[in-house]
Amino acid sequence: MIIEELNNILGKAPAFRMKQAYKSVFQDLITDWSENTTLPKETRADLKEACSLDISVEFADSKKSDALKALIELEDGAKVETVLLRHSDGRNTACISSQVGCSLGCKFCATGMLGMERNLTVGEMVAQVLVFARYLKEKKAKHQRITNIVFMGMGEPMMNYQAVMETIRLLNNTDVFGIGARHMSISTSGIIDGIEYLSNEPLQVNLAISLHAPNDVLRSQLMPINRKYGIKDLMNSVKHYREKCGRRVMFEYIMLDGINDAPEHARELAELMQDKLYMVNLIRYNPTGVFKPSKAEKIEQFKRILQRSGVHVTQRHAFGSDINAACGQLATKRNKKA
Ligand code: SAH
Ligand code: SF4
Repeated sequence: MIIEELNNILGKAPAFRMKQAYKSVFQDLITDWSENTTLPKETRADLKEACSLDISVEFADSKKSDALKALIELEDGAKVETVLLRHSDGRNTACISSQVGCSLGCKFCATGMLGMERNLTVGEMVAQVLVFARYLKEKKAKHQRITNIVFMGMGEPMMNYQAVMETIRLLNNTDVFGIGARHMSISTSGIIDGIEYLSNEPLQVNLAISLHAPNDVLRSQLMPINRKYGIKDLMNSVKHYREKCGRRVMFEYIMLDGINDAPEHARELAELMQDKLYMVNLIRYNPTGVFKPSKAEKIEQFKRILQRSGVHVTQRHAFGSDINAACGQLATKRNKKA
């Protein structure tokens, strides 16, 4: 992928050469090195030979045009899905994948059902943003900038920590996409080591926790990782992050009919959320054949109980539901190896 090949070729050249290459690829969005005018001819020839700018991608456009799904075929034949959410206020959020599959097997998650294939490389993560930037330019979209990044596609970002952080640093680099760290979020199923590392990062990236259940018995049934990192330890580690970084933390909660949506669950959840910087995002379940989504009245009731206890609650907008493009619903078909 482009990043790794650029490092091979320009890693030892003066730093400004890499800047020039980044600018061409990520800002001018060239698709062939002959379009570059800043690098020496010989470098361009080397790059043309060894750093292909082609990315094998298929797009699925939502009819409502609020979401765009891209299926990228990687060099080893593995396939990875990624989604662009196009907000009406002009923001464009790329929901990117960090792994092919995932080893954590959450019961409601399409990616979890695939099992784990491998971690994605930095180049493969950056490419997921690049394909959308190229698409928006080609379609002469009104709003072409990718403004936000969420690691909420396939995989557990904290299990690919170093590469995810390197990707964030690149996306933040003003010669690449210049996306503010505060506009990037990592969502985790609660890998405590990763949350601890993140508390020590200089970049102010947002943290989201996939909680989905307010007690250990239920959470361990839905998310096997809870047997290793239980709710008490998880909440302590989030508290530490929040004290250190002073940033808001979002807790994601998928509403599953008859499973985690009773008033009692809302009360238990409210107990855990007694911190002004915590907020709950109630998520509509995208059916994966295992559970049923909660009914609208149940969600309203749940929300009211939380609000009455002073908890800040939001509801995730159902983006791209007509193309199965919502986060957490990616790669429902098994990846074919080459
Ligand atoms: N592994 C990380 C990030 C990827 S999943 C994590 O679990 O946080 C991104 C989000 O989609 C998580 O909140 C996840 O719980 C949610 N999700 C998974 N399956 C879903 C489904 N079927 N419907 C709605 N959200 C889902
Ligand atoms: Fe993995 Fe996240 Fe899906 Fe759980 S919800 S299986 S951690 S991708």
